[in-house]
Amino acid sequence: MSVFSNRQQDIAQKIQESAVIENWKDWRWQMRHAIKDISSFEYLLGVEFSREERTALQQTLDTFPLSITPYYISLIKPEDYKNDPVFRQSFPSPSELIIDDYDMADPLAEDSDSPVPGITHRYPDRVLFHVSNVCAMYCRHCTRKRKVGDMDLIPVREEVEQGLAYIAEHPEVRDVLLSGGDPFMLNDEYLDWILTELRAIPHVEVIRIGTRIPVVLPYRVTDALVSVLKKHHPLWVNTHFNHPSEITTSAREALRKLADAGIPLGNQSVLLAGVNDCPRIMKTLVHKLVINRVRPYYLYQCDLSEGLSHFRTPIGKGIEIIESLIGHTSGFAVPTYVIDAPGGGGKIPVMPNYLISWSTNKVVLRNYEGVITTYKEPDAYEPVFCDRNCEKCTLQLTVDSAEDDYRSIGIAELLSDQDDIISLVPDSNERLLRRNGADEEVET
Ligand SMILES: *Cc1c(COP(=O)(O)O)cnc(C)c1O
Repeated sequence: MSVFSNRQQDIAQKIQESAVIENWKDWRWQMRHAIKDISSFEYLLGVEFSREERTALQQTLDTFPLSITPYYISLIKPEDYKNDPVFRQSFPSPSELIIDDYDMADPLAEDSDSPVPGITHRYPDRVLFHVSNVCAMYCRHCTRKRKVGDMDLIPVREEVEQGLAYIAEHPEVRDVLLSGGDPFMLNDEYLDWILTELRAIPHVEVIRIGTRIPVVLPYRVTDALVSVLKKHHPLWVNTHFNHPSEITTSAREALRKLADAGIPLGNQSVLLAGVNDCPRIMKTLVHKLVINRVRPYYLYQCDLSEGLSHFRTPIGKGIEIIESLIGHTSGFAVPTYVIDAPGGGGKIPVMPNYLISWSTNKVVLRNYEGVITTYKEPDAYEPVFCDRNCEKCTLQLTVDSAEDDYRSIGIAELLSDQDDIISLVPDSNERLLRRNGADEEVET
């Protein structure tokens, strides 16, 4: 379906007098004409900033550059552009120059958890693989703000080869998450090459792509791109819609193409003050997503990256949003609300509490309506000794299809009988340092 709204036509013709719908829908045309300065923005939207505003904005741009596709600009409503969710996500705010006490350049320690350039290996069985440092639109709330627009950081082919080699040498990696920048900013042939190389690694079971293309440049989802992607199943795509107004006819068309190619689609939203910190907006968003075959996956608490303080909400706002979803709407429309742990601990779910209390044979729960109920636990349950060694167990896990050396780690290790560890203690625990004599290592 071809859509070329009056506003889009007006913007297109301001950019290039002879522009027609074919230009507008050509993603390379959109990229060539990405808006990178304040006066082009004013001209295209028909708005004007004061001299003071312009000075403050220019200062912000000197630190954090601007880039918006003509398509994404066309979603801004000029009448009330300052409150527009698209404007707020894409247009700089002088507040970005405020650095809070707790802000960090790399809050998720992605660079420290990086064994080779481009790879962040944080979890046991999966890696984040940065294959592009280019985005169609620079999100003002980018967690990797430190890197945005820095052309020197674009991974060269040798770096991508190093990343591929790392994955090939690490048989525990069964899930590879391509990210960036935006992997869909790579050309089809190059992306095809990366996916082919990954698919040739026998232990890589699942490939995922994280992209904001369906939101900011849906025309990039061409039939040619989709036919590359569908050669490499199982391939999952996670996108990043934050507000229902981003789900336009063009975005829906891009999502339809991806879903029709058999690609399971997920969405990762970021909770942003002044954009989507509202239960009704989030409910509308998740409904629109599932209508378009996209499963809401994560709702992120805004990271502690530098320059994002004006976007952050209290955690309670996220809990309130989830509270308004669970039970009130389809289970698969509810994302998991997570905080990505500062320092690199990974994503931590923070959801409302439903377990109110419990005794040895009964738990007390509450539901979404506030009904308090009890669940009677079994009186007889034969606890199974489980050292996570499945050979002598009567439950039938086919051991040859399972991992040979199964070891639980973390809290799962505490719950198992695999060893004598009864506590996890930070190495700086002073009480245990005293107990062991301050010079000795803490033993657990
Ligand atoms: C988010 C993330 C992943 C994937 O986590 P899932 O919970 O499996 O989606 C992997 N590696 C890093 C570094 C991440 O930040």
